[in-house]
Amino acid sequence: MSETILLLAHTEADGSLSRLALETLAAAKSLGGALVVGLIGGDVQTAADSIAGCGAARFLSVAGEAFAESRYSTDAAAAEALVKAAQATIVIAPQTSRFARCMAGVAQRLGGRIDTHVTAIAEGPQITRWYYRQRMEAVIERAQRPWFLLVESGIAEPYPSRDREGAVAVEMLPVEVSSRTRVLGRQAPKAEQQTIRPDAKLLFVAGAGWTKKQADGAAHIDDAARLILGFLAATGASLGSSKSLVDLSGEGQAVLPFLSHMNQVGQTGSTPRHPKGLSTCCHGEEPHVVGWRFIRERRVINLDANCGWARGKADVLYVADAFAVMERVNALLAETAT
Ligand SMILES: Cc1cc2nc3c(=O)[nH]c(=O)nc-3n(C[C@H](O)[C@H](O)[C@H](O)COP(=O)(O)OP(=O)(O)OC[C@H]3O[C@@H](n4cnc5c(N)ncnc54)[C@H](O)[C@@H]3O)c2cc1C
Repeated sequence: MSETILLLAHTEADGSLSRLALETLAAAKSLGGALVVGLIGGDVQTAADSIAGCGAARFLSVAGEAFAESRYSTDAAAAEALVKAAQATIVIAPQTSRFARCMAGVAQRLGGRIDTHVTAIAEGPQITRWYYRQRMEAVIERAQRPWFLLVESGIAEPYPSRDREGAVAVEMLPVEVSSRTRVLGRQAPKAEQQTIRPDAKLLFVAGAGWTKKQADGAAHIDDAARLILGFLAATGASLGSSKSLVDLSGEGQAVLPFLSHMNQVGQTGSTPRHPKGLSTCCHGEEPHVVGWRFIRERRVINLDANCGWARGKADVLYVADAFAVMERVNALLAETAT
């Protein structure tokens, strides 16, 4: 069956397309069907121009002030109009919180089906996704159309967008705004307080060892916090944690206040997708390391030469005191910054 593939994306606050949207575009192109681009946002012309050469037969959009903000009713109405106008059989969109919120509803309205957290797309089309907390991988095909796919990051190299790759004639679709929901503002942690950074090149994992008694018989929580936050500030790395470390607060023990269960990596935590990882003061037990399956290059600092990481789970194990190593690493980073 010849498919009409709609790449659906929303613009960012500055009018650009995110890296994930560009990865999704590359994945959509790889399917080889007739490609249509559908954009949602305040003003989408810059975004459209930046991917002018992507080979889309049409550029459709629903744009205007009401579509600049993430809101279920307007996003769903916009996506519905775009899918109808494109007569899309396959709809591929990035797995952003904005689309995750509304796209299942759009699939329902249009009598389609949706699969989320897609981690690979191949000709067919066939998609891959994980089940049961990343333990089982399934390859799925569906006969039902339209078929909506929300795509995770890391699925493809991003389409190389350029400022003004060309001038695109964008077809604007009229969509009536009937929402009673008004966006009054946004509350989010300050960027420097936000320690989970999915786009970071490096995942820095802190384990429970940071809070344990050290060689001098005392725990050094303040030093641990200073070293970890100093490293994150200097490198922009994302902060992950072992379960033991984030569970400590429930046990009434001294904790690192900037960590929560959101940071937890592993079987009952997250499975992030950074190219590199550095694990510190973490034993490397299987329920934790299973969350590292997409981290391609793994290094570890642990006092224990027989820790779990030593059993083929890491590329490099530094048998060393993480407090001393990170002190030195931070000093070297400070030197290179000046
Ligand atoms: C059903 C189930 C699900 C689970 N899910 C998860 C999960 O999602 N994620 C997860 O992380 N765990 C999970 N666990 C728990 C997991 O099995 C481990 O208990 C946990 O990961 C251990 O955390 P840790 O390595 O930080 O702590 P510990 O095991 O206490 O290890 C601390 C390490 O720090 C090292 N250390 C101490 N001081 C220093 C120093 N100065 N320098 C260098 N190294 C030092 C020690 O040598 C030690 O290896 C799960 C367990 C179960 C049963």
